[in-house]
Amino acid sequence: MRNGEVSYWWQAFGGFPPRRASLPGPLEADVAIVGGGYTGLWTAYYLAGLRPSLRIVVLEAAFAGYGASGRNGGWVTSELPGSRARYARGPGGVAGVRALEAELRSTVDEVGRVCEAESIDCDFVKGGRLSVATTASQLDRLRESVAAIREWGDGDDVYEFLSPAAVRARVNVAGALAGLYAPASARIQPAALVAGIAAAAERRGVDIYEATPVSAIEPCGPPGSAGAGAVARTKFGDVRARSVLRCTEGYTAALPGLRRALLPMNSHMIVTEPLSPQAWEEIGWNGAETLADEAHAYMYAQRTADGRIALGGRGVPYRYGSAVDHLGQTDQATVAALTGVLRRLFPAAASAKIAHAWCGVLGVPRDWCASVTYHAASGMGWAGGYTGHGVAAANLAGRTLADLVAGERSPLTALPWVGHRSRTWEPEPARWTGVHGLYALYRLADRLESEPADSRVRLGEALARVGDAISGIPH
Ligand SMILES: Cc1cc2nc3c(=O)[nH]c(=O)nc-3n(C[C@H](O)[C@H](O)[C@H](O)COP(=O)(O)OP(=O)(O)OC[C@H]3O[C@@H](n4cnc5c(N)ncnc54)[C@H](O)[C@@H]3O)c2cc1C
Repeated sequence: MRNGEVSYWWQAFGGFPPRRASLPGPLEADVAIVGGGYTGLWTAYYLAGLRPSLRIVVLEAAFAGYGASGRNGGWVTSELPGSRARYARGPGGVAGVRALEAELRSTVDEVGRVCEAESIDCDFVKGGRLSVATTASQLDRLRESVAAIREWGDGDDVYEFLSPAAVRARVNVAGALAGLYAPASARIQPAALVAGIAAAAERRGVDIYEATPVSAIEPCGPPGSAGAGAVARTKFGDVRARSVLRCTEGYTAALPGLRRALLPMNSHMIVTEPLSPQAWEEIGWNGAETLADEAHAYMYAQRTADGRIALGGRGVPYRYGSAVDHLGQTDQATVAALTGVLRRLFPAAASAKIAHAWCGVLGVPRDWCASVTYHAASGMGWAGGYTGHGVAAANLAGRTLADLVAGERSPLTALPWVGHRSRTWEPEPARWTGVHGLYALYRLADRLESEPADSRVRLGEALARVGDAISGIPH
């Protein structure tokens, strides 16, 4: 089994792309974007389309797609990266949240449209999203979700409740008691998408400098001096620009002054060897749905275009001091746990070897709500904190940042995540203790909920509710 090497996706893509040049020296630009993942690259792509005369540079510490954008589960999902109730407290109220959700749904199509227009071959298939309940507690939660969805006003066209037979007709998940199907979701090959966006941005004149870590982002002038712009500092020299955009999601904590802004949450993945035709006959999954379960420490999965199952979950949730992994290397206990989930849900894949395991970090704000923020006066902005729903959200955030930088007032710039602020995370050791305690609680709750004794099941449900109340994770 390969472990790390950033991700299986890069290996399947034929290895890392040829390394682009580093920043040649100090430089002046109109817009400097720090981070070459989906957020930074989509922003560059759309801004270059909107204002072709701007000099836009992307400064990337490793290579475009090194971060979560080249490692994720490949779900282009319209799920809200945050809480409806919290976003609704903004000036746009409930209508603003509905607008954000509608934009996220159409973003799935927008990603597909650009892939088509730019000839990005990333296995994009809009097969919808299927979440399955495999215990009575998960079924209760699924029913509660459906009731809340209907109360919110969304019908079957947005979320459809599926019987066990209807779940099996899509994907034969062992022990499925029911499912929830959302059509607005697509499956992709993440590395192919990020490589494609980088190339498309370059065709629009964007310069991408790799192996160029930014050590600090600072305003150029004294506080309040409008129009002076900002500076991104690197070992090769400073990049001064009218606008400097931080698009570093799970890696943000390493930048000065931002240690407690976004928590780098780990997510871990495994991928099988290609399954046999007989196994696929048994499993089905012919619609390329993105798949999850309703566990508290939930799993997410896709059937890859090359006939494998790629499956992810939380594992070790967080590293002390907001540290990040080395090249995506993950621990054996997490690989064993994810393999156990795979075998339980897909007995037909029980003998399939695990070909590759890896992990990465995603950015979690303290209130679990993503933000797109731009201060026109200082020229400094950022987007991220998508809490694991960043593939579609980063496209919408990129289009929104592009509008904000271009000074365009648009429906996107009025969305409730624009300018959304979250408080900072607790200092260590409280941060580590809290996150590890929470996921220990969730894992215990999942275990208890799958036991036969009713009292154990109820205890599991109660523990999970305590976890939800402490963490503030939106459901
Ligand atoms: C294993 C895993 C599975 C996931 N699955 C899904 C999924 O299926 N669907 C979904 O919607 N979301 C998923 N996510 C989340 C999603 O991938 C991310 O939210 C999204 O990719 C974030 O994109 P980004 O560009 O903001 O950040 P990243 O892709 O992390 O990019 C940030 C970039 O900034 C660079 N960088 C960092 N610091 C600096 C610096 N100081 N100077 C210069 N460059 C810097 C990094 O090298 C990196 O390339 C998953 C995440 C992980 C880790």
